[in-house]
Amino acid sequence: MINQILLGIILSISISLAAWRFQSLSQSGALAAFIIGCLIFGLGGLPWAALLLTFFISSSLLSRLFSSRKRIFNEKYSKDSQRDWGQVLANGGLGAGLIVLQTLFPQQYGIWIAYIGAMAAVNADTWATELGVFSHNPPRLITNGKIVERGTSGGITLMGYLAASGGALLVALTALPFSGQSSASFIILAGVIGGIVGASFDSWLGATIQAIYFCPACQKETERHPTHTCGAQTRHSRGFVWLNNDWVNFACSLTGALSSSLVYWLFFS
Ligand SMILES: [Zn+2]
Repeated sequence: MINQILLGIILSISISLAAWRFQSLSQSGALAAFIIGCLIFGLGGLPWAALLLTFFISSSLLSRLFSSRKRIFNEKYSKDSQRDWGQVLANGGLGAGLIVLQTLFPQQYGIWIAYIGAMAAVNADTWATELGVFSHNPPRLITNGKIVERGTSGGITLMGYLAASGGALLVALTALPFSGQSSASFIILAGVIGGIVGASFDSWLGATIQAIYFCPACQKETERHPTHTCGAQTRHSRGFVWLNNDWVNFACSLTGALSSSLVYWLFFS
């Protein structure tokens, strides 16, 4: 256990520093990632580390690979590809809480399933955001199906859902070797449902109560505040001011964890 914790600390320092150096994380983001990494690697060991790394590596690679093709849409998103502490906590905070819970209650296998759901959801959401913009068909609002401009919060496409399923499936497949007491089909089902429900809830919040701003210079809707990518001040146009992108991502991971837990509960009780 002591060796695992030491290894976890060394691994967390290396990854956070590398991510900061390659500008995947800001300075505050690297510090938050270091703390979350220590908890998940140190207490969770290889199984928990594998899921976190699957999310971190695949989503960083996707945003890096497509950053040039996507640049025209980028101003729609509240932050660029460099993640700060709020984004890191939004995506990994629940996982860190779950490993603390698992350490206190080692017999509770359901906590592992909840973690699979949380990681599947944030990965599904990131993949959908990164790859959904390549859809040939325009997005439709998740609430009423009306066609909206590309990059609009709450807009969904078939491409986005395929990407979300792929992101969730990758997390589920990574979890398979560590989920010996469940069948492979159950882990895949729980992971993909967690991913789809989490990403859908994220879109639903974007379409309804998430804080959305308006840039008077570009005449465009944006999640960025207080300033737009163009430098102009954005003004609040709809949604709750406190419900920013980070809270929406946290809600995504929480609904993912709850949906996968529900699947587990329905099958095993
Ligand atoms: Zn602007």
